[in-house]
Amino acid sequence: MADKIPVGVVGATGMVGQQFVRLLQHHPWFEITALTGSQRSAGKPYKEACTWVVPGETPLALRDTIIQPTTTQVDCRVVFSALPSDVAGPIEEELAAAGFAVFSKAASHRMDPDVPLLITEVNADHLPLIHHQRRQRGWDRGFIVTDPNCSAVALAMALKPLHDCFGVAEVMVTTMQALSGAGYPGVSGLDLLDNVVPYIRNEEKKMETEPLKILGRLEGEEIHPAEFAISAQCNRVNVRDGHLEAISVRLDQEVSAEQIIEAWQTFQGLPQELGLPSAPDRPIIVRSEEDRPQPRLDRDAGEGMAVTVGRLRHCPLLGWKFVALVHNTVRGAAGTSILDAELMKVQGYLD
Ligand code: NAP
Repeated sequence: MADKIPVGVVGATGMVGQQFVRLLQHHPWFEITALTGSQRSAGKPYKEACTWVVPGETPLALRDTIIQPTTTQVDCRVVFSALPSDVAGPIEEELAAAGFAVFSKAASHRMDPDVPLLITEVNADHLPLIHHQRRQRGWDRGFIVTDPNCSAVALAMALKPLHDCFGVAEVMVTTMQALSGAGYPGVSGLDLLDNVVPYIRNEEKKMETEPLKILGRLEGEEIHPAEFAISAQCNRVNVRDGHLEAISVRLDQEVSAEQIIEAWQTFQGLPQELGLPSAPDRPIIVRSEEDRPQPRLDRDAGEGMAVTVGRLRHCPLLGWKFVALVHNTVRGAAGTSILDAELMKVQGYLD
């Protein structure tokens, strides 16, 4: 513990909060020193406040930890925020103003012009925006870094090598999103059993805007979004974990399937170069079987940190189509935030 950075998980009792706790319990650089929840949980031991729904058991060392209210009185340097978006905004600002490094899974600040929307392998070069954020908001030590909507993670990661190598001109995406994406207890079983719900509130707008910010260019103190259109349709399906996306894309150049596959297979980012603890060896895994990826078979690839793509074939409308899969609460949520914090530690932002 002596050299580890003390971290807090705010919203620790929810679906994403539990993944933070699970992934951080044996982390080599970070040690959980605070857990928070709403008034419903504050004052209770973690094991009582939380219905544990992620793999494994509630970590022994945290079972009797008392849940604190979510305030700036938490005892840590780094905060991982798994708060609902309708409450996260002001709380995260107060935490950053009080000097905490805030890594947020909530949507509240994702599109703020001075807040990086980070996927470490894709746009680590946006991180200097933090200096502008601190100047602009008068924060000396604290900051807010966000990471994307869970489905947008898969889309942006799958598009990144294609955009760099060939240029992306247009995208259509239809998602099949897992139940755990709605949090705990989330969507009623009666709504989803034997059913698909073709609506997820605010999701399509996030899918149509967040990847453009992520794939945009930082120039001075401003991110210029990527200039192509995305059309998204988002559906909730009866799968526990793992968002599947059917994607069609028009590229700026004529390319072969082999060139696309090579772009995905050779794709690496800073986390791989630096050997960060949570980095998957291969951020994008390409499956060649005609019926993969599938949520149950492929969501845990790379310990849940890899995006799996497959079924690449010609699209009569846009040129190419394929399928992508992400584990929504790991790479799509807690794992991505932890990887952000690892990179920012190495780059000196947590000193
Ligand atoms: P969740 O299961 O509903 O958990 C919400 C957490 O926030 C709980 O710990 C809850 O504490 C706490 N909370 C609720 N209201 C609060 C308040 N007023 N003050 C303090 N704490 C409060 O939701 P989730 O699925 O974990 O999602 C968390 C965030 O991550 C959301 O912003 C969501 O959009 C985002 N996200 C989720 C996923 C996913 O796959 N689930 C993926 C990407 C991003 P109590 O238990 O004490 O009420």
